[in-house]
Order: sequence, then structure tokens, then C-alpha cells
Amino acid sequence: MSSVPPQTFDVNNDLRKTCWVCFATEEDDRDAAWVRPCRCRGTTKWVHQQCLQRWIDEKQRGNSTTKVLCPQCNTEYLITFPKLGSVVLIMDIFDRIIYKMCPFVAGGIFIGSVYWTAVTYGAVTVMQVLGHKEGLNVMEKADPLFLLIGLPTIPVMLILGKMVRWEDYLLRLWRKHSSKLPLLSYIFGETSPLGLRIPADYAPLSDPISATRVLCGALILPTIATIVGKLMFGSVNSNFQRTLLGGIGFITIKGALKIYFKQQQYIRQAQRKILDFDEETQPSTSSPQEA
Ligand SMILES: [Zn+2]
Ligand SMILES: [Zn+2]
Repeated sequence: MSSVPPQTFDVNNDLRKTCWVCFATEEDDRDAAWVRPCRCRGTTKWVHQQCLQRWIDEKQRGNSTTKVLCPQCNTEYLITFPKLGSVVLIMDIFDRIIYKMCPFVAGGIFIGSVYWTAVTYGAVTVMQVLGHKEGLNVMEKADPLFLLIGLPTIPVMLILGKMVRWEDYLLRLWRKHSSKLPLLSYIFGETSPLGLRIPADYAPLSDPISATRVLCGALILPTIATIVGKLMFGSVNSNFQRTLLGGIGFITIKGALKIYFKQQQYIRQAQRKILDFDEETQPSTSSPQEA
């Protein structure tokens, strides 16, 4: 036996088992259980059961379903478990089903709550716009299926409507044709007078769409429309017409103000100047070492 070098890959080496984890041989521990779990030959053919178990534990890090491969030949280790008792087997199956179902159930609950929130919001809006009694009347007479589809589309339509950036479109149109309307040019300020630079096109025409701002603005619109309707069109008897007029009035006034604001910002951008650097006014920030 001593004539065989331990590291050679000859046939004799298979006879002398060496564990590739702890490097112990058969002589070191006569009782240890051995296994050859993969295609490897030579010094990495044999390994102690216990040593490989520990190695697999380390690779799996507590997840017993993780596959473990031989680091040398990439053969997947075949791991068997003792048969489960029927009670434990059923529990195991249930455990797996529940584990797999939970994401779907949670997603369903989330979608359901969003849906019912939308239905509730739609119903509140109908009562707000038509008046409490009339709104209830309309909803009682309507087909339930129509309500289940129609009510949640109210907030969806409000949000989609809010995402239409009509002010930007008007402003762009305005900048194109402003020279033809001298009076309005005077009010809003000249867009491109001689000698002024035109800000780069990618300068933001309006704020980037903020999801929360769109959401809040869209959902509060019916309330604002009701208030503006009562303030400006109190003489209109129909709740619906008054709120509609209030909404249109509010959107028009807000849009005009926004266009004015954006245009002023644009002109300010166009008139900005870059100053000469003056050594004497800011000596401390520019050259601290000379002080
Ligand atoms: Zn070992
Ligand atoms: Zn191997």
C-alpha cells in the first residue's frame, strides 16, 4: 500500500479511499461511511457521508430544495429522504400549495381593494355631482352590472383626463403664432424678441408628470368643481349643470394661469445672463491656499 502515491489517478487509487473534504483515509477511521456521489475519479472520487452532508448543508443554507452540484464534475448530487408518514406527507403538500398560492391571493386582495375603493369613489362622486338624493335615485334605478363597471371607470377617466397636457399644447401653439396677436403678446410677454436667445428645446415645458400629483389632482377635481360651481354659478338650478360649469370654469382659469406662469418662466430662462468671474468679490472660495 505504501508504494502507491496518494495523488496519482491510477486504478489503484480507487482502492485506497481518501475523503476530498477532510483528507482522511480509510485507515484513519474504519467505521466512517463512504460515498462516491459523482463522476469524479481519483482523489476526489470518495468522500465521507458526514463530510459531504456538512458541505451540502453549507451550500443549501437551510433551503433543502436547493440543488447541489459537485464542484469538480458538476454532477448533481442525488439526495433521498426517508419516506414521509401519510399525515406528514399531507401536511407537506398543503404547505407547498399554501406557499405557492399566497402571492396570488395577496395580489387578488390588493386588486379587489383597489377596485372597491374605485367603486366607492365613483358612487360618492355621482352623489356629489348630481346631489345626494338624485344621485342615490339614479344609482338605484341603474342596472347593477352597469354600476359595477361604470362607477370604477369614473376615477379612471378622471386620472386619464388629468394626464392630457392640453396646456402644453396650447402653449406650444401660442409660441408658434404669438407674433400675429400683438395685444396678447403684450400681456404674456414677447416670446422671441430680437437679441434674446431661445432656450434649448429640451428645457422642460412643464414639470415631469408626477404620479401622486396626477392622482390627487384628478380625484379632488369633482369636489373643486362642486365648490366652484356653487360660488360662480349659484343661479343654475341643476346640480349636474352647475358642477359641470364649475369644473369647466376651474380648469379654464387654472389652465390660463398655468400657461401664463410657464410663459413667464420661459422668458426668464431666455433672458438669463452669465456673469464674468471676479477675483476680488469671491477670493475666499476660489483660492483658499493663498490666503
Ligand atoms: Zn471526510
Ligand atoms: Zn465530481
